[in-house]
Amino acid sequence: MSKNSNIKKVVLEKAKCIGCATCVVLCPEVFSFNDSETIAVVNDKAVETTDCEKVRSAVQACPSEALLIKE
Ligand code: SF4
Repeated sequence: MSKNSNIKKVVLEKAKCIGCATCVVLCPEVFSFNDSETIAVVNDKAVETTDCEKVRSAVQACPSEALLIKE
């Protein structure tokens, strides 16, 4: 799989996140879980080094459309 050459950033809309942790399971390099806020957080530093398809699948799997890719 190709690396991220065109994903610059993943934005998490905190208000939309329902804390299902799907993104964390699918791509733990980029997404982690904030237990105190019970929402996901994005590790933007990992976005450009993690497999592109893995990031995209996590973004697409988000049930509340809280994640947005900036290319
Ligand atoms: S998949 Fe979406 S709703 Fe679920 S934790 Fe991640 S950002 Fe939040």
